[in-house]
Amino acid sequence: MAKLFFKYGTVFSAKSLNLIATAHNYETQGKKVLLLIPKLDTRSEGYISTRAGFKLPAEVIDIHTNILDIYNEHLKKKERIDCVLVDESQMFSVEHINQLREIVSVFNTPVICYGLRVSYNLELFEASKRLFELADKLEEIKTICWYCKKKATHNLKLVDNQPQYVGNPIDIGGLEKYVPVCYDCYIKPPITG
Ligand SMILES: [Zn+2]
Repeated sequence: MAKLFFKYGTVFSAKSLNLIATAHNYETQGKKVLLLIPKLDTRSEGYISTRAGFKLPAEVIDIHTNILDIYNEHLKKKERIDCVLVDESQMFSVEHINQLREIVSVFNTPVICYGLRVSYNLELFEASKRLFELADKLEEIKTICWYCKKKATHNLKLVDNQPQYVGNPIDIGGLEKYVPVCYDCYIKPPITG
């Protein structure tokens, strides 16, 4: 039976790189993957890209899209789908996660979601919470703290080098805004300068 996977981590844990490697593995075996990316991720422009420079086209899902409809459109065109890979899954809606669960159960197609666990304000993203509730398999993608040698568990938001602890959980940033940290460094970041 196919499974719903949630592979979660912090920023800079190479989640998208992991996704692209998985897509590559399927494709070298002649299998087809369906790649999904949230519209909220304004950096994406229809591509899953990594800091290492890899890039793959993906279907953009907005808040009103029913992912089951997207899946069925491919089936109608007689296109096979061997696996669904979802980037930035924390930005999807709870309803989207329910739809992904249905794809696994109804079509026996594995779905692998890659995303953040908690936002910079220490709250679970709604979609990540739903994935914890519904996934068959959870896997942590690990990386180390930006400031020390411990494992990173949280995301620190920096604006002008100052930590930010409140605000909209979905707030897109790059290197200048988010760093992976352990809890101790989250609470008391050893920021200099
Ligand atoms: Zn640390």
